[in-house]
Amino acid sequence: MQVAIGKSVLAGIAIGPLHIYKKKAIPQIEQYSSRTPAQEWERFEIACEKANQVLLELYEKALAEMGEENAAIFEIHRMMLEDEDFLDAIKEMLKNQSSTAEFAVSMVGERFSATFAAMDDEYMQARASDVKDVSGRVVGILTGQQQETILLLQPAILVADDLTPSQTIQLDRSRVLGFLTRHGSSNSHTAILARTMNIPALVGVDFDDSWDGKLAVLDGYDHCVYIDPTPERLSEMQERRKKDLEQLAFLQALRGKQNRTLDGREIKVYANIGDTQDVELVLQCDAQGIGLFRSEFLYLNAQDWPTEEQQFLYYQHVIKAMEGKKVIIRTLDIGADKQADYFRLDKEDNPALGYRAIRVCLTREEIFRQQLRAILRASAFGNVSVMFPMIISVWELERAKAILEGCKTELHKQGIAIGALEIGIMVETPAAVIIADELAAQVDFLSIGTNDLTQYTLAIDRQNPRLDRFYDPQHPAVLRMIRHVVEAGHRHNCWVGICGELGAEQTLTETFLRMGLDELSVAPSAVLPLRRLICSLDLSKKQ
Ligand code: PEP
Ligand code: MG
Repeated sequence: MQVAIGKSVLAGIAIGPLHIYKKKAIPQIEQYSSRTPAQEWERFEIACEKANQVLLELYEKALAEMGEENAAIFEIHRMMLEDEDFLDAIKEMLKNQSSTAEFAVSMVGERFSATFAAMDDEYMQARASDVKDVSGRVVGILTGQQQETILLLQPAILVADDLTPSQTIQLDRSRVLGFLTRHGSSNSHTAILARTMNIPALVGVDFDDSWDGKLAVLDGYDHCVYIDPTPERLSEMQERRKKDLEQLAFLQALRGKQNRTLDGREIKVYANIGDTQDVELVLQCDAQGIGLFRSEFLYLNAQDWPTEEQQFLYYQHVIKAMEGKKVIIRTLDIGADKQADYFRLDKEDNPALGYRAIRVCLTREEIFRQQLRAILRASAFGNVSVMFPMIISVWELERAKAILEGCKTELHKQGIAIGALEIGIMVETPAAVIIADELAAQVDFLSIGTNDLTQYTLAIDRQNPRLDRFYDPQHPAVLRMIRHVVEAGHRHNCWVGICGELGAEQTLTETFLRMGLDELSVAPSAVLPLRRLICSLDLSKKQ
């Protein structure tokens, strides 16, 4: 038996064979080719065929799930690959400039895209990003750079150097028993997703290739993994897992019960989700609502811009499943570690301090408007709130609200029904904490994002595993900020919650309740344990 240590992101046990996922090396785009133009053309044709195949599959999936109107975009992309002008321009570059196929496609793609972007007609302008997207897809195939989806043929514990948030969200949950990564921080979005999806996981594990296929036990309680466990260790861990399941069954008794302390104080315990599939987990744990729906994962899960209709269906599915319970949809929080190729966000020196979240939405309003329209349309089917991330100034909030109002007016004019919805913001920066009074005056609720609030208060990159031991969400500065926000919110009749990971920290639950927090939104697996604790507290007793 071999034992390796890591850092746990979810306390739980997974038992199964290990499957090592190897990322392909990323080659550079070469400009000049040593092959003949005819050979390069053949490479191009093969890549186009593959792209065509993927587009056809996407078209069929979209057609089955979302109807003709939404599927049409993939047909347009397929047609672009057959456009004679596009093909002639590539052929010419291969012949006259001895270019590689990937270089020619990327140059011609850029040129055609710029031509579309300069046209007067809005429809034609919108095709600029389609051309970029199609040519990017072909270049990706030619260079092997396209992001791979990880496929498991049988249930296994996945082992990888690193996983991006978009790879994590695309994992097949019926097959991934757990995962181990060499890199990655326990505060990253990949780790948060593992917690949300209830998948035991460890980061910082120094694995080697010989592990592939071996039986292992991932012990998220003791931060380690046993490879080829001894029969004694295996049965000990099987026993522990059985106990976990029994505990879960015991907690089920809390379902449907009031969530009050012994002295009668009520607190809302909501769940955080990243994908429509997570709703199942929310229903199982009987959370009173969804306190944070990380909508950006819809974008990360897609190969291309989700249309308004696709987004509407996605939100509607969650809202209907919650049957009138609150669903707080956080608007797009893309950027930093959450990247989707088709957004084409520039590489930044300080991505956490960069172009992300509301900053993207307020500068690319068409994306924001499309999302808000989809949320508003879906709001007619239940109890919905909108929450803006990373707000640091009053003007940002005013602008976001004005755009939301504009979308409401548009929908009214079109005769489309919308529900009554609450508006809130995430408090994730010291700036938002300090001006919490002014912000609270403009909204219905404040939800404290302690993951980012810790990062920005302590000046510690939450993605950097070397800093994990310094990243302390329980730092007195963070706790005092939470108290300040609760007081400011209550002065303006706002309810105040926590939706960062700290909300699930049971050693602080009593402190949070005494501070006056109204809501805690946590990973679905943390909901019932938290409810059990809350029901055992007596706040009338002096601390
Ligand atoms: C937070 O920052 O606490 C939060 C909930 O948002 P995210 O983790 O998605 O950045
Ligand atoms: Mg955040």
